[in-house]
Amino acid sequence: MPGIETPVIGPAAPRGLCTDCGISRGPDPKACGRACQFIKPDYPALEAQVHGRARDPARPDELHFGPHRRMLRARLAKPAPGAQWTGITTRIAERLLDTGAVDAVLAMAPDPADAWKPMPVIVTRAEDMARCRGMRMGYAPLLALLEPARAAGHRRLAIIGIPCQVYALRALERELGFDRLFVIGTPCSDNTTTENFHRFLALLDERPETITYLEFRADFHVELRFADGRVREIPFLQLPISQLPGDFFPLTCRTCVDYTNVLADITVGYMGGQGEQWLLVRNERGEELLALLGDEVVTSTPGSAGKRDGAVKGFLANTERAAGGLPLRRMPDWLRPIVGWLMPRIGPRGLEFARARVEMKAVETIIHLRREEPRRLKSMVPAHVWALVSRYGLTPRDSERPPSSGG
Ligand SMILES: Cc1cc2nc3c(=O)[nH]c(=O)nc-3n(C[C@H](O)[C@H](O)[C@H](O)COP(=O)(O)OP(=O)(O)OC[C@H]3O[C@@H](n4cnc5c(N)ncnc54)[C@H](O)[C@@H]3O)c2cc1C
Ligand code: SF4
Ligand code: SF4
Repeated sequence: MPGIETPVIGPAAPRGLCTDCGISRGPDPKACGRACQFIKPDYPALEAQVHGRARDPARPDELHFGPHRRMLRARLAKPAPGAQWTGITTRIAERLLDTGAVDAVLAMAPDPADAWKPMPVIVTRAEDMARCRGMRMGYAPLLALLEPARAAGHRRLAIIGIPCQVYALRALERELGFDRLFVIGTPCSDNTTTENFHRFLALLDERPETITYLEFRADFHVELRFADGRVREIPFLQLPISQLPGDFFPLTCRTCVDYTNVLADITVGYMGGQGEQWLLVRNERGEELLALLGDEVVTSTPGSAGKRDGAVKGFLANTERAAGGLPLRRMPDWLRPIVGWLMPRIGPRGLEFARARVEMKAVETIIHLRREEPRRLKSMVPAHVWALVSRYGLTPRDSERPPSSGG
């Protein structure tokens, strides 16, 4: 199809912790050793390379969210049909193609055989970006398209990616040698295989094939949309989590240390947006990307309310008790609707919700690695993650201390 390329890519090399970002399918599968966030990540060095400085714990929220110039609550004035939220992510990419700032964009489209399965594509026409709107669940080898993109003569690229893809991209950026590279990142957590995700959908509705949209919203509800236009909202506490197998989320996604895509030029999420989108503009290129939207985007200052400590402590206790399985809340069924009603009203909101989620993910990483891959803690967990969990009494044992943490 003109405007969208789906080159044939090679098979994945067998790897331990791996989300098949695509590097192992490229011309140099050994590059995984220096590119993978699951092997020996170096966040301070890459943050400095990409943003000109590593995160500064003295600057508000950088310990949690990584280096950024500013954070915004945002929405497109005219939400794009089919978008996960209002479509800021794909609209930025459309504008890059429209204005000729890039030759091509690497992103995910739905697989023609399964709309929930991500399929990496090279897009060269702005009007084709609409096909990539919306979130799919699963892994797909986005970075395997770097070589085909180069071979097609694309020298100026934009990439839309999740954190484990963006880490590998940044680790190899200098050797890749593209003339320009823009990275639009989304946060990511709790991803799983597309097959597992279909099992989850089947527990949510009698006709799972009619579900066209799912989102875990910041107001503690899952929103489902259906092919006939219906919308259903389910409080988190009433999700059928207890019916999922303990290994529903792969170890990769229970232990990855970058929730907010700290190496992107701009991160487009929703966690800190209180019902709108949440932008982290991280560097000069991020400013350029946001400026492309002009007055198509409506922005305001993010809010913050509630206290996260109780929620994170409860999550820690549940995760420890689950002993490697899914953390379930101990609560009688009759209480669940009441607490489900209360949570969006008294729980952490806005930036406090985002801080809570980042800390929960950090807590989860430590607990699961200690149980399943204790030897990896030393190389996989950066010092800033230990700093995030220390307020909950989790501190590195001698064998777990990252080499450069110094204390
Ligand atoms: C698995 C997953 C988990 C997420 N979890 C969170 C979260 O916890 N908190 C949060 O704030 N945000 C999360 N996000 C991001 C969020 O869902 C929205 O994608 C983001 O807010 C952008 O919305 P939008 O309307 O601008 O996106 P759109 O304009 O609709 O574009 C979405 C873009 O996402 C890309 N994409 C879709 N599926 C995948 C996939 N499986 N892998 C890689 N890229 C994909 C596509 O290339 C597409 O361009 C997650 C995204 C994914 C894929
Ligand atoms: S770099 Fe990518 S392909 Fe290689 S091991 Fe890591 S996630 Fe897998
Ligand atoms: S949760 Fe982490 S490891 Fe899993 S897909 Fe998202 S960024 Fe990758």
